[in-house]
Amino acid sequence: MKMILKNKTYPSCQDLLDKEYKDKPITILTNGERNAKLVKGITKKADVMILHFLPHNRADVLMDRKVKRTMCPFAIMAQCHEACLNTAGRGGIIKKGETTNTIEIARLRRTLLFLDEREKFLAQLHKEITAFVIRCKKNDKKPCVRLNGTSDVQWEYELHEGKNMFEHFPEVQFYDYTKIPTRKVDNIPNYHLTWSYSEANEKYAKMFDQVPNNKAVVFRDKDLPKMFRGLKVIDGDKTDMRFLDGDDRVVVGLKAKGDAKTDTSGFVINWR
Ligand code: SF4
Repeated sequence: MKMILKNKTYPSCQDLLDKEYKDKPITILTNGERNAKLVKGITKKADVMILHFLPHNRADVLMDRKVKRTMCPFAIMAQCHEACLNTAGRGGIIKKGETTNTIEIARLRRTLLFLDEREKFLAQLHKEITAFVIRCKKNDKKPCVRLNGTSDVQWEYELHEGKNMFEHFPEVQFYDYTKIPTRKVDNIPNYHLTWSYSEANEKYAKMFDQVPNNKAVVFRDKDLPKMFRGLKVIDGDKTDMRFLDGDDRVVVGLKAKGDAKTDTSGFVINWR
């Protein structure tokens, strides 16, 4: 795939990576201060880091790979890959005449490290979380980490030296949204999961009443309904820290952003 970045044209994404990024280090976690929604969760008592991959199979698509691996196993069923939040905020801003931006390339490099060199990736993630925990301790803050900022990896199965990240860091509050209705994480005390709803597929939509977690629903309008399918709707855009919602029988209402504003798949719900 031809790539244009900073007024330069590259015959392929691999060529761009080789020419511009070969010896540049990859950072896995991003400080929540750079994210408009996460920054609301940063208080005198808590700090947050987030991990942004490229969602679904976007990395292999950009790299023109034959086999397209997905970071989001339910993206096709839930039809969320087109309207993914990956395009919300700065990640979705591409200069006129260009085909990508530096945020997408940073996410691509992280995703390729995860897909192609898993052990190396997990060792570095462990190192970065360790540094974050030390920083939080020094500042007397609770460390919070969201590992699936724009992906749906089942982190409970990703083992580094025999343990997943939740076990390595019991002092960290991890939290995520997921499209996978079958994830079983109730036994992980420091991981909070919110299930993300979609009406793109009838079978998927029917799971609404079966999934025990809080449900996040993306609504089309500027405001949110008061109730959805019999449950109270709370404003999920006020903070991203879902583990503070307390009540596990609410709908976390989110307003459509980025490409989601024009989504017609059923991922974004018309409620009026
Ligand atoms: S909305 Fe979530 S599950 Fe769907 S493609 Fe984006 S990151 Fe993946």
